[in-house]
Amino acid sequence: WCDARWRSLSLSAASGAGGASQPAPYTKEELAAALRDGQLMNYYQPKVSIASGRMVGVEALVRWQHPRDGIVYPDNFIPLAEESGLIDQLTRVVFSSAMKHARTWHEGGLDLSMSVNVSMDNLHSLGFVDFIVAEAAAAEVAPRKIILEVTESRLMQDLRTPLEVLARLRLRRFRLSVDDFGTGYSSLVQLRDIPFDELKIDRSFVHGAGEDPTKRAICSASIGLARQMGLDAVAEGVEDSADWRFLQAIGCDLAQGYFIARPMPADAVLAWAAHWQATCSHELERLS
Ligand code: C2E
Ligand code: MG
Ligand code: MG
Ligand code: MG
Repeated sequence: WCDARWRSLSLSAASGAGGASQPAPYTKEELAAALRDGQLMNYYQPKVSIASGRMVGVEALVRWQHPRDGIVYPDNFIPLAEESGLIDQLTRVVFSSAMKHARTWHEGGLDLSMSVNVSMDNLHSLGFVDFIVAEAAAAEVAPRKIILEVTESRLMQDLRTPLEVLARLRLRRFRLSVDDFGTGYSSLVQLRDIPFDELKIDRSFVHGAGEDPTKRAICSASIGLARQMGLDAVAEGVEDSADWRFLQAIGCDLAQGYFIARPMPADAVLAWAAHWQATCSHELERLS
């Protein structure tokens, strides 16, 4: 449904998860050196409104440009960063870079929200709030344009400080998203305890949901839950037009996935947005 020009633009900038060969496990020292030497870079994946087709934001997804192994995907080093205490530094690097890019795009006339992934391990000190507030202010990006996507990858022992950090960020008007909802520890308990603004349905429930009664039920229930709680519902992992149509039919607000675009380097975002606005949003209107 979409022309070859767009497809090549989107695919040449491609990075998606899963395609890469799995590198050897890395050590803390290697990751620390990579952070020091500036080998981490942000890719960005567009997020679009299902009702209007409009691009509303991007999500920052970190990649390690490894001198020997090429592009290394975050599943290969985020757990290491969390275990080794490097996650704080990593999140700061990603967030700072995301703020610089957000500012550039705002100056270029693109009114995009910026989503950044945050690990629960980042939330153990109130200093994190000060850092986020200061970086956003320095880049002159409004907190309401910034969405912090929280994933709980393992069970947390003491949630008091993390909950306070999130509450303080929300008071400062930053927006909070529950990522990979329905998997791991991203659960109803989190929805009860944390003042989220957005719910991201995990991609394992999204692709193929139109044909799979179980996935369909999970998607519908998640969207119903989001609506009743006043949250935006985002489907991740939208891979084909059947996924898109299903989500449209059940009233999902926003979509992200390879059907729309793969994550791309920062310098591809403006061109992608212009092309999307010029052609693909009209294609989607026809699709509906
Ligand atoms: P996530 O936040 O749930 O991000 C979505 C992941 O799904 C990304 O993988 C994205 O490239 C991939 N994806 C997007 N659309 C599709 C699709 O249509 N089909 C399929 N199969 N996959 C799709 P990626 O970039 O490899 O990131 C994996 C995870 O690593 C992220 O999951 C997030 O939890 C974590 N991560 C990425 N960047 C950061 C970061 O800066 N900090 C932290 N703490 N975690 C990060
Ligand atoms: Mg995310
Ligand atoms: Mg997710
Ligand atoms: Mg994930």
